[in-house]
Amino acid sequence: MINTFLEHLDACPTAHHVVDRVSALLQSRGISQVHVDAEFSTDHLECGFVINGGTIIAWKNAQSIAKQGIRIVGAHTDSPGLHIKPNPDTRTLNWHQLQVEVYGGPLLNSWLDRDLGIAGHVVLQDGSTVLFVSPQPVARIPQLAIHLDREVNDKGLILHRHHHLSPIWATTDSSASFEAWLAQQVSTSASRIASWSAQLFDTQKAQILGRDSEFVVSSRIDNQISCWAALSALLNSDSDRPMMIALFDHEEIGSQSSQGAGGPMLEHVLERLSSAGGSSRSEYLLSLQRSHCVSADNAHAVHPNYVDRHEPNNAPFVNEGVVVKTNASQRYATSPKSVVPIVRAASEAGVNLQSFASRNNIACGSTIGPITATRLGIETVDIGVPQLSMHSIREMCGTQDPVDLVSLLGEYFSRS
Ligand code: ZN
Repeated sequence: MINTFLEHLDACPTAHHVVDRVSALLQSRGISQVHVDAEFSTDHLECGFVINGGTIIAWKNAQSIAKQGIRIVGAHTDSPGLHIKPNPDTRTLNWHQLQVEVYGGPLLNSWLDRDLGIAGHVVLQDGSTVLFVSPQPVARIPQLAIHLDREVNDKGLILHRHHHLSPIWATTDSSASFEAWLAQQVSTSASRIASWSAQLFDTQKAQILGRDSEFVVSSRIDNQISCWAALSALLNSDSDRPMMIALFDHEEIGSQSSQGAGGPMLEHVLERLSSAGGSSRSEYLLSLQRSHCVSADNAHAVHPNYVDRHEPNNAPFVNEGVVVKTNASQRYATSPKSVVPIVRAASEAGVNLQSFASRNNIACGSTIGPITATRLGIETVDIGVPQLSMHSIREMCGTQDPVDLVSLLGEYFSRS
């Protein structure tokens, strides 16, 4: 099963590729897209999905939301990285470079000396969108040689976010502009391109690693584990309970966009399903009180070389279970009551649960859980798979925990 996770990682260099893959897998199982600008009807209640840019929301068994509420698993499709700016072509001496913008909070040093590809989507003049992935590595951000930076190992690497991150991708002998290259990638002429979005990605494939093959290493483990696990649980479930996955873009930059968890998309989909089922506004609001949400995003496993960064009683280990994340200041939405469906599902699925709470002297991260809970008033619990190297271009997790997350979410969807 873990191999399907590796396939998912390799197929999804951008949030839009995640949405494309999830959409194709849903359709292969008979679940059809409902266009966001189309009326929802009773035909759409049994199953369906909507897409808005890098966000996708899919559901099953929405006929009985009014009576039973709905169980939702939320995750995020985006990852921190380097996006290509408009008019990116720059020439320094005889090097041809691209201007990039930092997206979210990547570990910048991890992007050096990597064989980088470029992936994204192009919107054509007729409004259609075409995804692309460069078939081979095309760019690299070379680190300065130690002979020219003698103190780097002792004083640490300091990267200037503007000057030190531009990849090289050609010499002046090459005259093709970025947009001309882009047009080639989608087999069109530059004049037919209305707009585009492109980002760098590591071309090294996801891999199993370790003496006993216990680890997965890849880009975008945060948060493709949760996207893959949520989708797998939804597709595998034969329960007739209402269930939904909401995979949001823009988490890494704070979720405040029309497609992000801070936008109205989930709320609108829930209300439209409810009204397609004939419920009144007050029945819809009541259904939210009967609903529950799992916000699935990765957690920090304890690092053997930096044990002091965790509080010892709440330090998760890789391959020892799914983590429940708690924060008294509500950076995570978990409450003693909201965790109960997950505790019950874990016991049914035979999955171990671990706990994470941050040290008082280290700021706690956050994710979509508290945003969903605040917007919709749905009881929410924050959970996730423990990993190392979060926000590195090459992250690491266990091989057991992702599989456990699928089992846990499967039970969560199926049981009351
Ligand atoms: Zn994340």
